Amino acid sequence: MPRPTKERRILEPPKIQGMKPMGVPARFLECVYLALGEYEAIRLADYDGLDHREAAEIMGVSRPTFTRLIEKARKKVAEAIVGVKELLIEGGNYSFSTQLQRCMDCGEFERFESTDELVSSCRNCGSTNIVHLNEWFGGRGGRGCGKRGGHRGGHGH
Ligand SMILES: [Zn+2]
Repeated sequence: MPRPTKERRILEPPKIQGMKPMGVPARFLECVYLALGEYEAIRLADYDGLDHREAAEIMGVSRPTFTRLIEKARKKVAEAIVGVKELLIEGGNYSFSTQLQRCMDCGEFERFESTDELVSSCRNCGSTNIVHLNEWFGGRGGRGCGKRGGHRGGHGH
């Protein structure tokens, strides 16, 4: 039984569901699962360059919790690159502060407040081929990779 974890705040959903190694058939790939909180830790500390204290504050977690998140996240990214694994972003107790939609025709992203009404056509090109990225991360991970047996939920601690 998974232990209850505190809900974490994430600015917006990741713009991808995961990444695949190039040049390797899918059936050979194992998965590594990057939890949303771990993704956000990487985004804040390594991508945006915030210090851990600031990043922890933004996510609403303690500094030691943040340090654990970022260490797990880096380990998983390393495992994906060096260990040649598919990286899937899913899982973790979280809430998004904003909503993100993407037009699948012109590629434009549009961000909305969580209470805003979503649009049904692209403001840029008028296409109705629009994806609500928040929905990717709403369910209980139905996605998998070619070869089962990845580290779902990390190493268990
Ligand atoms: Zn468009």
